[in-house]
Amino acid sequence: MTEIAVRFDIENALKILGITPVNHGTWTGSNSFGSGENISSISPVDGATIATVKTTTQNEYENVIKTASEAFKIWRKLPAPQRGEVVRQFGEKLREMKEPLGKLVSYEMGKSYQEGLGEVQEMIDICDFAVGLSRQLHGLTMHSERPGHRMYEQYHPLGIVGIISAFNFPVAVWAWNTAIAWVCGDVCVWKPSEKTPLCGIACQHIAATVLKANDLPEGISCLINGDYKVGEMLTHDKRVPLVSATGSIGMGKIVAQAVAARLGKSLLELGGNNAIIVTPDADIKMTVIGAVFGAVGTAGQRCTSTRRLIVHDSIYEKVKDALVKAYKQLQIGNPLNEKNHVGPLIDQKAVTDYQQALKKVVEEGGKLIVEGGVLRGNGYESGCYVKPAIAEAKPDFEIVQHETFAPVLYLLKYQGDVENAIQIQNGVVQGLSSAIMTNNLREAELFLSAEGSDCGIANVNIGTSGAEIGGAFGGEKETGGGRESGSDAWKFYMRRQTNTINYSTELPLAQGIKFNL
Ligand code: NAD
Repeated sequence: MTEIAVRFDIENALKILGITPVNHGTWTGSNSFGSGENISSISPVDGATIATVKTTTQNEYENVIKTASEAFKIWRKLPAPQRGEVVRQFGEKLREMKEPLGKLVSYEMGKSYQEGLGEVQEMIDICDFAVGLSRQLHGLTMHSERPGHRMYEQYHPLGIVGIISAFNFPVAVWAWNTAIAWVCGDVCVWKPSEKTPLCGIACQHIAATVLKANDLPEGISCLINGDYKVGEMLTHDKRVPLVSATGSIGMGKIVAQAVAARLGKSLLELGGNNAIIVTPDADIKMTVIGAVFGAVGTAGQRCTSTRRLIVHDSIYEKVKDALVKAYKQLQIGNPLNEKNHVGPLIDQKAVTDYQQALKKVVEEGGKLIVEGGVLRGNGYESGCYVKPAIAEAKPDFEIVQHETFAPVLYLLKYQGDVENAIQIQNGVVQGLSSAIMTNNLREAELFLSAEGSDCGIANVNIGTSGAEIGGAFGGEKETGGGRESGSDAWKFYMRRQTNTINYSTELPLAQGIKFNL
């Protein structure tokens, strides 16, 4: 495909999604345009400004919350399976829109078209999951200690769920939250990343179409736009009982404090520093595929990207040579072109962070075995394309403690037993994703045991990158402790109530207490 054809295709995708180049703003439920500052959506693919978006003002935010609160009163009354039916229709609409939305994700964020489609597929999958869930929002029944009494627990919706999302999964993370929150009976107010506002607008269009077709209030799905200042409107607002925030650890620490100060609930999905342990019993071919995809996929801009490879010294040289060889084959360029493996970073700041990380690792005594560098010239005009790099490093280097959101892989060596590798793997503040490559059952089980990985995700013979929607997703330590998506993550979107019913003619007190009148 030529570059011109790729660009034209995007214009067509935007048309199908109903996006024009100007005048997008706060969606209060009636598609009103915001009146705040302008933010530009700039594609890292070619540096083009795709559209201008207005940020949400405080007054507009007040309207959004009013609209959402009114919508909640109607939505919560609908039986959960009927809410599930709306989510089913939303999933159907996403199936229809998969290609244009996948293309927009790719063009606005910079991930490959295949990954853009994959992200929309995750939205569809979570809708399917949520539909089934809408008939399974179950509590327990317990035996009462009092005669003639029945005791059980049930879950009720919370109200408004505030969603703050990061640029790197501009649509899927919203859907993970929204599809679950909706079947739970909550309404959602979403603030997407200011770096990918059009993805937010496209999703809002799709959601609004489905709500309208069902004659439901538009306020069930609301959109606000802007940077951290608009995010703070949500985090400080006691009318928003749950804030689900995805982003950097620095952001999470501020959000957590703001929400805790008003005793609200926060669900935090923050940065990772993910490692793969490679033991002498590893399948080297599988290891290289897992490590390369994990480190360079989405240009290293996944929260689950592989940042550290902890390799046993007996196979270290072999793994290193195989990696260097694999990196030589990587094609870097326009992510809408299928032949490319690595697309651009999101913006110039990300490029600077990447350059600084490479400088720092060398200053600390590391060695670049795949050099990296910024690409210039034809096809790289946006200035956001960088070469994936590999640095030999030590586990305790300062730079290795940090998540650099770019394709930089640190190669670390361990000696002796797998316990030493686990210690290195756990020796960082983040706790999102981890993996071990081994065919040794004892090593694998130890890695998964309580003495093993301290991360929210621990894999055997799979890389760190990506996850299926059926499991609860999230990480420990400074990754924030939140869980969203599958399993029983839904419980966090609801309030739990214990009910005791007395069907006897007596009023016995608990614990046998007598209160004679
Ligand atoms: P970021 O922290 O810069 O921004 C994330 C979102 O938070 C944006 O919408 C931003 O406007 C908002 N925000 C920032 N400061 C805020 C504040 N004080 N109050 C309210 N909102 C605020 O992150 P980013 O650069 O967009 O994304 C990359 C980061 O996100 C990486 O650290 C990555 O690991 C993390 N991430 C984590 C997960 C996960 O599930 N654990 C998933 C995706 C991304």
